[in-house]
Amino acid sequence: MTDHTPPANALPINFIRARIDEDCAHQTYGDRVATRFPPEPNGFLHFGHAKSIFLNYGIAADYRAECPGSYCNLRLDDTNPTKENTEFVDSIREDVAWLGFDSSGREFYASDYFERLYHCAERLIEAGLAYVDSQDAESMRLNRGTLTEPGIDSPFRNRSIDENLDLFRRMRAGEFPDGTHILRAKIDMASGNINLRDPAIYRIRHAHHHRTGDGWCIYPMYDYAHCVSDAIEGITHSLCTLEFADHRPLYDWFLDRLAELGEFTRPLPQQIEFSRLNLTYVVLSKRKLIQLVTGGHVDGWDDPRLPTLKGARRRGYTPEGFKLFTDRIGISKSDSLIDFTVLEDCMREVLNESAERRVAILDPIKLVLTNFPADHRERCLAPNHPHHPELGTREIFLTRELWIERDDFMAEPVKGFFRLSPGKEVRLRYGFIIQCTGFTADEQGRVLEVQATFDPDTKSGTPGSESRKVKGNIHWLSTADAIPADIRLYDRLFTHPAPGARREGDAPDLERDFLEDINPDSRQTLRGMVEPALATCPPERRYQFERQGYFVADRVDHQPGQRPVFNRTVTLRDTWQKS
Ligand code: ATP
Ligand code: MG
Repeated sequence: MTDHTPPANALPINFIRARIDEDCAHQTYGDRVATRFPPEPNGFLHFGHAKSIFLNYGIAADYRAECPGSYCNLRLDDTNPTKENTEFVDSIREDVAWLGFDSSGREFYASDYFERLYHCAERLIEAGLAYVDSQDAESMRLNRGTLTEPGIDSPFRNRSIDENLDLFRRMRAGEFPDGTHILRAKIDMASGNINLRDPAIYRIRHAHHHRTGDGWCIYPMYDYAHCVSDAIEGITHSLCTLEFADHRPLYDWFLDRLAELGEFTRPLPQQIEFSRLNLTYVVLSKRKLIQLVTGGHVDGWDDPRLPTLKGARRRGYTPEGFKLFTDRIGISKSDSLIDFTVLEDCMREVLNESAERRVAILDPIKLVLTNFPADHRERCLAPNHPHHPELGTREIFLTRELWIERDDFMAEPVKGFFRLSPGKEVRLRYGFIIQCTGFTADEQGRVLEVQATFDPDTKSGTPGSESRKVKGNIHWLSTADAIPADIRLYDRLFTHPAPGARREGDAPDLERDFLEDINPDSRQTLRGMVEPALATCPPERRYQFERQGYFVADRVDHQPGQRPVFNRTVTLRDTWQKS
């Protein structure tokens, strides 16, 4: 199922905002709407996280006018010591800032709450609401039951409060090896919702934590740590993806019980689920992204073909493009698959407005204007942006020898080809009308040079120049001025819209691997020619290369003064639609 694109510039009205509006109207949470973006620092952020960031930060920003106490916290959900590190934390902060949100002063760590989380767990034990289970993992799994069968109470379920407290304290003190005991909530082993069958609260894990060091050898489980962290931070609306809907009763159970015990005051935070972002031709699971990087299928976490925010940035995608995209796809309660072209269109729309135009020849061949004086330089004016005259013009010089695009010439033109071919006329953009008089080719028929004559009375912008109509209008650069550049053309990383998905006609036992759907031609590096000024443009500067697409000076490899390196962000038009 593919989402139909809602109208452009649709206001971000959605069911979440409707709920918040109601809470504001009833003053449920006083003067605040508080959200959080809670990544686990175990990987780099991807396009899906961008949706969550704009949603959470966007809500806090938009409600600040009405509810001045509103905020959005960046919460590093670091309760899983073995997979997390500070490199990921730094990268997350950088990506959030790149999307335009300042996390300074509102950056929190679940690990800062370890003491409080532990204290609340003891309170649950004292209230008879949690117990230490000492079954082995296999028995615990078997006794959990199935979707159709209830679970079976653990033989340790009725331990006394004192025994539970003693064991839990000794768990913390490091007396037991990993996996020997866990702390569980005492809820209902027969619940129809498996999440409520005495879920784990704490497990033993003798592991070094990137922030708390060796201070702890027990770590809280996600379902417990998350809701308690929300309550500690005064979060009002805890927005998460749909797969947590079945966990909501547990979210409420922990907070209701802790409120009854006086640990938190009402009103408590409420969990609201929304659909996660799924995109065609893209994988968004961290596990798969790790496979792509460690398997050497891409060049690292910031490879422009990856759907990470680091990759997007290097590719030339813009924060404004992501904002437009998240507004356009909206927020819904049912999972859907968004066509990748929707994202690309958003990037195009933003870049079309903001990117200055430049000329680049991606695959150059020489054009010689045989009647053009050898030492003459004809000054031509090119607008920097066709819709923004205030951005001015720049000079480019037309000379006898030029570079043009190889595919703007055809020795034997096919029907409908209106560019250069023997005997035919085209306009050199911002310059003159020329007529092709011949070409030279090597023995294999590969064109080496094209010859033409120019008509001096047809200069663009001079009186009468428009009276002669030609169908083709091609871009060019003087061989005297143009400088070589590395131009990287990126394409989709996968050839199938659902990488790794089964196809019609697949044998029932066939399992596909998403890596089989990798596009072998997702990157091509060309030695092109660009305007001389591009040698000194700063990294990350974005342009439209006329007639070619949007390009960005590479963040890493483009160094002013050296051979420029440009990455293609997106073509001018969608080239995949028909395939
Ligand atoms: P992954 O599936 O890639 O491992 P995750 O959900 O484990 O992602 P977290 O770092 O825990 O990643 O997620 C941080 C926040 O981002 C969560 O609130 C989560 O709901 C949200 N999020 C993650 N993936 C998506 C997505 N595809 N669409 C929307 N929100 C997402
Ligand atoms: Mg997660």
